[in-house]
Amino acid sequence: MPFALTLVRLEEALRKPGCAVCRLEHEAALNAVDHLLWEHTNDPQTRREVRSAGGFCPAHTRLLVAMELSRSGPALGVNLIYESLVENTLEDLRKRRTARRMSPGMGLFRRTRHAPAVECPVCQQMKQAGMNVLSSFMQALEERDSRLREAYLQSDGICLKHLRGWMDEAGDRFPRATDFVLEDTLERLKKHRAEMLEFIRKQNWEYREEPLTPEERRAWLKVLTLFTGLPAERFDHHLPEF
Ligand SMILES: [Zn+2]
Ligand SMILES: [Zn+2]
Repeated sequence: MPFALTLVRLEEALRKPGCAVCRLEHEAALNAVDHLLWEHTNDPQTRREVRSAGGFCPAHTRLLVAMELSRSGPALGVNLIYESLVENTLEDLRKRRTARRMSPGMGLFRRTRHAPAVECPVCQQMKQAGMNVLSSFMQALEERDSRLREAYLQSDGICLKHLRGWMDEAGDRFPRATDFVLEDTLERLKKHRAEMLEFIRKQNWEYREEPLTPEERRAWLKVLTLFTGLPAERFDHHLPEF
């Protein structure tokens, strides 16, 4: 995606709750599955990728099904993709059966040899998109894009997974921007930690007359967003179902 367009989408995402990079990764996953269902169900290259990964991770399997059922009705794409996966799996399991018969007692060796080496194709595309977004973000900050900087400062911040991932993989590329985001994240964490300490203190019966400030009430949510990237409203009383 062109740099300018990425920045427009990034600024939009920064104005919404949660980590903007996580949000754009989520959109990239939707696009990847959409593409897969509508254009590439029969594309040999895509099929090879899906096969070598042994299918999708649980979250993206659910996304695949949800997108197809919500748009077209019959699950033809899912049938096409998984028929091919089942064919491949049968072949793999038959090979394992033969290997078991030939050399009993070598189970551990065989397990490591045949495990799918490649991660879920949608996860791969998501991570790639996330790194591209982070790279554009850091480049724009490095070039002193004050509009984006302002949007970032008003936002919930960049989650720790993305900040650490960026620093580990590419933190030397835009050093001033990386330092700026790192310092800002440290400040946010320090501030929220102090607020959480006040929250904890005021739960004590002895200090019950002291009201919590709005910041102290919400600090834990801000921290969970930094740890997970998810918007604060995702943290509620609903127990997740299996
Ligand atoms: Zn994130
Ligand atoms: Zn996945």
